[in-house]
Amino acid sequence: MDLTFNERELAFREELRGWLAQNPPVPEPTDGGEDAHYAWRRDWQRRLYDAGWAAPSWPAEYGGRGATLTESAIYFEEIGRARVPMAANVLGLLLGGPTLMVWGTDEQKERYLAPILSAEEIWCQGFSEPDAGSDLAALKTRAVRDPAHPGEWLVTGQKVWTSGAQYSKWCMLVARTDSDVPKHKGLTYFLMDMEQEGVQVRPLRQITGEAEFNELFIEQARIPEENVVGGVGNGWKVALTTLMNERAGLGFALQVRLRQLLDDTIASARENGLLEDPLYADALAELHIRCEAIRLLAWKGLTDVERYGQPGPEGSLVKWLWSDTNQRLTQLAADIVGPQALTAGTAWSYELLRARGNTIEGGTTEVLKNIVAERVLGLPRMKVTA
Ligand SMILES: Cc1cc2nc3c(=O)[nH]c(=O)nc-3n(C[C@H](O)[C@H](O)[C@H](O)COP(=O)(O)OP(=O)(O)OC[C@H]3O[C@@H](n4cnc5c(N)ncnc54)[C@H](O)[C@@H]3O)c2cc1C
Repeated sequence: MDLTFNERELAFREELRGWLAQNPPVPEPTDGGEDAHYAWRRDWQRRLYDAGWAAPSWPAEYGGRGATLTESAIYFEEIGRARVPMAANVLGLLLGGPTLMVWGTDEQKERYLAPILSAEEIWCQGFSEPDAGSDLAALKTRAVRDPAHPGEWLVTGQKVWTSGAQYSKWCMLVARTDSDVPKHKGLTYFLMDMEQEGVQVRPLRQITGEAEFNELFIEQARIPEENVVGGVGNGWKVALTTLMNERAGLGFALQVRLRQLLDDTIASARENGLLEDPLYADALAELHIRCEAIRLLAWKGLTDVERYGQPGPEGSLVKWLWSDTNQRLTQLAADIVGPQALTAGTAWSYELLRARGNTIEGGTTEVLKNIVAERVLGLPRMKVTA
């Protein structure tokens, strides 16, 4: 692994850093609740879009910059470093768009990619269900062809934990279209219009107090045939493309954010005279080592993608370590910062509470440990006894 950047990469970082310095986001709204906060993130994405920075890794023909993997990692590092808000349409930019680029028809790419980039149309991910999360292929939402309207599908079922559904125009929906074949084979990937009577969105309030995700109740929702992505019965493969993108890219912004939180915690420990305490110093040193290990593992993962064309199972190790470290760090920060971290509405209390979900979203820690055990360490596969 060679972490020396070439001239093009250094110029890329320089240009982005300069743009971010000259174009900071407008201040975060202090009232107006979650809707105002979301509108602020949407405005920020529009500004990125206007300057050509919404999705640099997208090919130039779709409005990106054709950034290499390394440049894309640099992009997320700089976005994290500048402490700017997350683009509003993060699922469209990181999951939906790249999935369409692989599996979409020319008409689908033409229709959907530009409004994703400009945040005109927000996307959400309708994968998880009450009885299908880690075992996604067990999902029960059904899509059947409507005999009364050839060329249309009717969808009925329930999705859950659907982040951003309340703001979304389109849902990446995986549904069962054939129950007579093995569970992975009977699935189809659809783009479902959220603005219809058959789709009801109910917010779920999290421990942080915000309703980041939702339940979706789907009752005879209509989807035209041209909104099938990748062919009927091919939904598992298309969904895997979406999931592979979920664990890439953003990781670089998250590890920079982790570093910033650690630096803030060290500053706070210094202010409170706790750096002289060997117990705190020891805990902070361990977190420092973990942060460095995560950073280097993330870059190593990128080298693997460049060498083998796809992310290796080691990516699971980065997500597991990051989420575990973030929980340890926010817990230690609460000890160091004191009551402020336990007072609702403070930035520290938000970090402490939001970190709980990190070990669940995008693959639970237990499932990631299975992947690392079986595919990195080569241990025997888990046998499930009924
Ligand atoms: C903040 C957040 C945002 C989310 N956003 C979305 C979204 O936008 N769209 C979406 O579709 N989903 C979303 N999810 C859902 C997320 O993908 C699921 O929660 C996750 O896949 C786990 O599924 P589950 O909740 O059904 O738990 P389950 O899969 O039922 O797991 C329950 C417990 O069993 C363990 N377990 C399960 N299988 C195994 C196994 N084989 N070996 C060992 N242990 C196992 C798990 O680790 C867990 O502890 C989000 C979740 C969170 C927390």
